[in-house]
Amino acid sequence: MSSDDIVKLIRPELQSLGGYSAHTSPETLAGKIDVLADKIIKLDANENPYGCSPKVSRALAEYRKWNIYPDAAQASLRRQLQDYVGVDASRIVAACGSGELLDDILCLFIGPGDEVINCIPTFDMYRTRTIISGATLVNVPRDENYAVDISAVKAAITPKTKLIILANPNSPTGTATPESDILELLETGAPVLVDEAYYEFYGKTAVTLVDRYPNLMVLRTFSKWAGLAGLRAGYGIFPPEIASYLIKIKLPYNVNVAALVAVRESLKDVDYLMGNVKAIINERERMFREIEKIDWLKSFPSQANFILCSVQKGDAGGLKQGLQQKGILVRYFDQPRLQNCIRFSVGKPEDTDTLIEALQELGGKTNG
Ligand SMILES: *Cc1c(COP(=O)(O)O)cnc(C)c1O
Repeated sequence: MSSDDIVKLIRPELQSLGGYSAHTSPETLAGKIDVLADKIIKLDANENPYGCSPKVSRALAEYRKWNIYPDAAQASLRRQLQDYVGVDASRIVAACGSGELLDDILCLFIGPGDEVINCIPTFDMYRTRTIISGATLVNVPRDENYAVDISAVKAAITPKTKLIILANPNSPTGTATPESDILELLETGAPVLVDEAYYEFYGKTAVTLVDRYPNLMVLRTFSKWAGLAGLRAGYGIFPPEIASYLIKIKLPYNVNVAALVAVRESLKDVDYLMGNVKAIINERERMFREIEKIDWLKSFPSQANFILCSVQKGDAGGLKQGLQQKGILVRYFDQPRLQNCIRFSVGKPEDTDTLIEALQELGGKTNG
């Protein structure tokens, strides 16, 4: 058998799958640009510039029982989350990042010919995981302000619809979907998955609706507000029956012991972490006002920890490269509905100052 032969055995829908475009890590850039790795300003992945709670670092340094498997039933983790989220532990399932739960949900619901509705432009992982699951992806475009087109979503529902995925607030646009729209989708009876990765920055949640709607599922993560992106800890809120199934089908030890310790300590330090969230929200508003002063950038209002901009004059790809040369990493998009767009994660105030200065310099150059 040649390597071509084995590649031919791969499922056809995966042979043509464009991957999740991972961002450039400071390690990959080392030596390519004239900025020291620890001077790089990372505004490309919506990571928390203030890091995790110091309680997390202390507890991990002291932890010893790395040789013991975590609890597959996640009993104490689910109890801790019950208090934070305000729903019964029987509704909660945790995972190695919220992305893993999306896979588990797809695994639970998707069979041949089933459809998943995706409100684009949105988090690209919904597209890749849906295709990997074997489902048919049904894209429903958002309107010109990136609001979900609720009547178009409703019109796209068929007997084969197994999931409607909705990021709220949305990434990469920062757009929030009002509760009235979510209620309208829930009333259709189709399963609705609301991804609240940025809940702590937005402050509004669909979790209050779970008692009334057995077709509602909500995803959350510790990656953004709690600064644990590198440790991988996410969770979801489900109808209790669905939660039991997810516990059955998930990989048994999906949440590792370091993540368990980190979540426990983060939940002991919510006030501290929410202070950082507050600082990021304030900085987002200041960053928005600063970007508004740049006449060749059009920014979209955001309820999350990043701001999407459309580059009105000049090339967004060139701008991304120019910023990278100056040691500032940002996300660049060039796809339908996100043409010539760039996204800045909100960092510390000094990061905004450096970014704005760099934008002023580069704008002068690339736009003549
Ligand atoms: C960052 C992000 C997540 C977080 O995923 P994890 O796997 O928990 O790190 C989920 N959804 C969206 C829309 C995001 O932007």
